[in-house]
Amino acid sequence: MTIYNLGSINADHLYRLDHLPRPGETLAALSYARGLGGKGANQSVAAARAGGAVRHIGALGADGAWMRARLVAAGVECSAVAEVAGASGHAIITVDAAGENAIVLHPGANRVITGETVRAALAGAGPGDWLIVQNETSAQIEAGQIALEQGLKLIYSAAPFEAGAARAMLPFTWLLILNEIEAEQLCAALGVGLGDLPVPHVLVTLGARGAVWHDLGAGAEVRVPAFAVAARDTTGAGDTFAGYLVAGLAEGRAPAAAMRLAAAAAAVKVTRAGTADAIPAREEVEAFLA
Ligand code: ATP
Repeated sequence: MTIYNLGSINADHLYRLDHLPRPGETLAALSYARGLGGKGANQSVAAARAGGAVRHIGALGADGAWMRARLVAAGVECSAVAEVAGASGHAIITVDAAGENAIVLHPGANRVITGETVRAALAGAGPGDWLIVQNETSAQIEAGQIALEQGLKLIYSAAPFEAGAARAMLPFTWLLILNEIEAEQLCAALGVGLGDLPVPHVLVTLGARGAVWHDLGAGAEVRVPAFAVAARDTTGAGDTFAGYLVAGLAEGRAPAAAMRLAAAAAAVKVTRAGTADAIPAREEVEAFLA
């Protein structure tokens, strides 16, 4: 069973500064670090480290060879990651001494992925395979249509939240993943309660309070608490949870068991600084659970 992920790949450029630059100011950074990021890349790394067979569908510019290499090193199959003209997606993250940040995001190559690329990548996919989609790329709707035609289960993470994109993706979605804020935004945009969303399954993550799986068809819910840990950096917690969850489901686990595995992986992640590079391997997660 293959987990396909149509997802963003970003270079995160992190600059620590004494204060955030004011208009017209040129400021020397105190330090610089470069890391792999983007919701799609983080989720692919998480699903692959969980042990899933993951094929990423995306795009990078000519400056993105190191990001492809990081994904491959994490066990992600990248033959459907196209090289396109222009810059790779990237984020310029500035953080001041108090931890306040200001971020410039350039979607770059993530927004020039075509329906053709997605169709070619999914040519051999069918029932039993999974497709993850978020809102940081182009070609999501084409991906949804292909999933429906070919019988893949589509997992849609409606982040960063965009009402139009969410509305367009729901008809194709088997499992909708939302954090608490996105759940409120989506219900407000559609004017319905969570129980009336037009999808079979909704998973809402609640940060340190855990996560809830709503089986809307059966009118049932599964609640899994978070593990109590000393959180150091919660960035990427949601992506770690989503990637491990899909890998757990693809292994044939029931939602409750897949959520427990995902909650453990996210708990280990939040004890570490960083995003993709800080996502734990399956053995580390199993050791945490033992
Ligand atoms: P992000 O955007 O930072 O990636 P998110 O808002 O999408 O996160 P959250 O709901 O914050 O997602 O977290 C996802 C899961 O990660 C939670 O359901 C929980 O299992 C785990 N988690 C998050 N924060 C903590 C924490 N402080 N301690 C333990 N587990 C946590």
